[in-house]
Amino acid sequence: MKLLIAVDMEGITGVVTWNHVDPSHAEYQRFRRLMTQDVNAAIRGAFLGGVDEVVVTDGHWNSDNILIEELDSRARLNSGTPSPFSMVQGIDNGVDAAIFVGYHARMGTASAILDHTWSSARVQNVWLNGRLTGEIGLNSSVCGHFGAPVLMLTGDQSANKEAAEWVTGITNVIVKRASSRWSAELLPPEVTQKMIAESAERAVRGFRSGISPAPVKTETPVTIGLEFLNSDMADKAILMPGSSRIDGRKIEFTMPDMPSAYKAFRAAVTLAQR
Ligand SMILES: [Zn+2]
Repeated sequence: MKLLIAVDMEGITGVVTWNHVDPSHAEYQRFRRLMTQDVNAAIRGAFLGGVDEVVVTDGHWNSDNILIEELDSRARLNSGTPSPFSMVQGIDNGVDAAIFVGYHARMGTASAILDHTWSSARVQNVWLNGRLTGEIGLNSSVCGHFGAPVLMLTGDQSANKEAAEWVTGITNVIVKRASSRWSAELLPPEVTQKMIAESAERAVRGFRSGISPAPVKTETPVTIGLEFLNSDMADKAILMPGSSRIDGRKIEFTMPDMPSAYKAFRAAVTLAQR
């Protein structure tokens, strides 16, 4: 069994503000270590559960946050940007199942630490075949295209709730209880790492014995609706061939399958950059 552990930073143990996840801020150095430790806990549990191979994909900012020198030596790490599959890089390479560590809720969610969808400075809303989605829905759908179910997610209670809406039967690991975008009741790393390891062990064991969530399936062709924060961003993104303008801030495009829709979404968000 080959497992992909896809990692973001906003849902990592202890994180409550942008300062914690911004490489230019001094606090960031603490939290990239905690990020590595949350990941190591998931790796530890996965191997106890009987996994054969673990690939970790760093998906935050420029994807170079996880400390390779402190990573569990049994795993391999996808690091750096851009990569073909970004937050789920490596998913097209024989992965049987995935685990999402440190994830966050979509833009506009109440009581959700650092809620956003891909870019907090650019993206207001994203629809996947008409359904509002954040990074959880997008990434789990890409995994689903390649036949890999998402077994488990770690983050605050709102990210976990969103994950359960996309993936029936997903194992939830709530490492903090958000009370606003920038406040939460935190569990210490010693506690969360134990939770993460035990849950990963259980989730992998379940998968190996045939009890696990189903891969997220997406109807094809795939239509993405993309609403930006401001109209000038849509003015720039609409330059993408095949996209149409829905209103001042919203564009839409249709692609043959989930991987091409994911890449087109990222291209449009990149075009919209100031
Ligand atoms: Zn992030």
